[in-house]
Amino acid sequence: MSKHHNHSQTHLGHRARKRFGQNFLNDDGIIEEIVDAINPEPGENLIEIGPGLAALTEPVADRSGHLKVVEIDRDLVERLRTHPFLNQKLDVIEADALKTDFRQFAAEKPVRVFGNLPYNISTPLIFHLLSFADSIEDMHFMLQKEVVDRLAAQPGSKNYGRISVGVQQACEVTPVVYVPPSAFTPPPKVESAVVRLTPYKDSPYPVKDRKQLHSLCLTAFNQRRKTIRNNLKGLIPAEQLESLGIDPSARPETLSVEDYCKLSDWLTEQAE
Ligand code: SAM
Repeated sequence: MSKHHNHSQTHLGHRARKRFGQNFLNDDGIIEEIVDAINPEPGENLIEIGPGLAALTEPVADRSGHLKVVEIDRDLVERLRTHPFLNQKLDVIEADALKTDFRQFAAEKPVRVFGNLPYNISTPLIFHLLSFADSIEDMHFMLQKEVVDRLAAQPGSKNYGRISVGVQQACEVTPVVYVPPSAFTPPPKVESAVVRLTPYKDSPYPVKDRKQLHSLCLTAFNQRRKTIRNNLKGLIPAEQLESLGIDPSARPETLSVEDYCKLSDWLTEQAE
């Protein structure tokens, strides 16, 4: 145990960098479960965000034959580019995934995106990817379990909030694997889980302007204990809430994804 403890910041000769949210998977059983959930097939257009020391990259490449990876850490990029047998199977892109245009990878067919994400940027990264939803077949991400709970939350639950609405409007959300801290080196302070996000081809909740929806949700959930009327004061009049069938005295977490889409479309129409 002390041995594990002494070496817990270093994995396969690489010292984990906190600023890049580096927690490397070390558990073969869990890695296999995750790769089974992704189910990569030969010829698919796969792209991994943050391959790190290739814990997921290698077994995925074994099944798919080839994949693209986006990594920000220059040392890790160098290791991947000079890796004795993996380098043949990889297209290594040194970049910040938050600033990457994912549409460029989908010229021929939609991409399948996956990654054990750096937790400090996971929410902005998911929203960044949603702006390319029509270029994406599906996504599998390791996230803090708490974030997966929020993505999957239904109206009325304490976990339901702006990211539940923003993501559920665009994607089917399926939690797939639970992962304890001990599966990583160094172990994170929180529990983790892998979630599958499948963008809808035809969303059950169509919305005119997704950016409008996201900014509306920021405002609507700003103070959860206030009523929807108060949170949206100055933006949407109470009479308008009523005419859309929404009780102005309801709390923001009781409105459905569809309700938020209706409110968002009303705002978009006002701006037209
Ligand atoms: N996939 C590896 C694994 O499962 O063991 C590493 C996962 S580690 C949690 C996150 C990885 O994302 C690291 O390799 C880190 O350098 C990389 N990373 C951090 N920020 C990034 C960014 N903005 N764009 C691309 N990669 C990033």
